[in-house]
Amino acid sequence: MQASSSQRLNPHSGYTGRFAPSPTGPLHLGSLLAAFGSWLMARSVGGRWLLRIEDIDPAREMPGAAAGQLDTLRAFGLEGDGPVVWQHAREELYRTAIASLLERGLAFSCRCSRSDLAHSGGIHRACVPRPSGHAEAIRLRVPGDAAARVRFIDRVHGPIEQSVDAEVGDFVLKRADGCWAYQLAVVVDDAEQGVTEVVRGADLLDSTPRQILLQRALGLATPVYAHLPLVVDSEGRKLSKSLSALPIDPRDPLPALRWCWTALGQPPAVLADAGSVATLLTRAAAEFEFSSVTSEPQFADRQTTVESPV
Ligand SMILES: [Zn+2]
Repeated sequence: MQASSSQRLNPHSGYTGRFAPSPTGPLHLGSLLAAFGSWLMARSVGGRWLLRIEDIDPAREMPGAAAGQLDTLRAFGLEGDGPVVWQHAREELYRTAIASLLERGLAFSCRCSRSDLAHSGGIHRACVPRPSGHAEAIRLRVPGDAAARVRFIDRVHGPIEQSVDAEVGDFVLKRADGCWAYQLAVVVDDAEQGVTEVVRGADLLDSTPRQILLQRALGLATPVYAHLPLVVDSEGRKLSKSLSALPIDPRDPLPALRWCWTALGQPPAVLADAGSVATLLTRAAAEFEFSSVTSEPQFADRQTTVESPV
């Protein structure tokens, strides 16, 4: 699907963004903010915007959720360039990446169970002498020196620094239950799809240093990162984890799009009289000012949500 004529692609922009939901339920206001924000950042510079379904954890998936999410995005006018990518169909890419790390001694098999690591607060630095796990996981070998200190500049949150060895330890790339870990799949896919800017919710800020270490181990370029404000309920809880994680209403997209626009620090007057999704999106892409995006959590307005799932 191509961008509409009013948001022309500029092949010289060199910008590729994406939105990559997990199909664990209907889209809520927090996921719409990430989708619309990443779309705006791409479209305002004439860049590409891709959709990817992160469906590698069957136990957490809700049947039909992926199709519902794509239908909802379409109702909001947020259509990706090119076909939707499904992670479940990309095992070969993940297998190849892990094989390369194992071959070079940068990853290792591990049978340590959660209880084996309890004494170190769950942080893995070396396998315990007699691990109690039944099946093998694969972990990245995180260096125990300055090489594990990751610094990057987030476009919204500014300089971020984390010592991955001290704060996270050797992290899992393939789980003992056979599932590919989020960290591996996201790094492999962003690189393979040519994503230049990762724009997503601030709940993923903490996992970015792990992804950068993994990019380095795989010899992949590190994209630019921008973590958008989280949407929280009236008590400050992340929306997707609280009872107010109600789905957005695809039959009435304008209020939720206007809400997200304002939550991104943009002036409400710009979209106030837009009477259709197409008009609203055209105007939004033309008027979007990245420098106004805030890092502060945004409080959800329940009026933008509906009670019943689609
Ligand atoms: Zn271990």
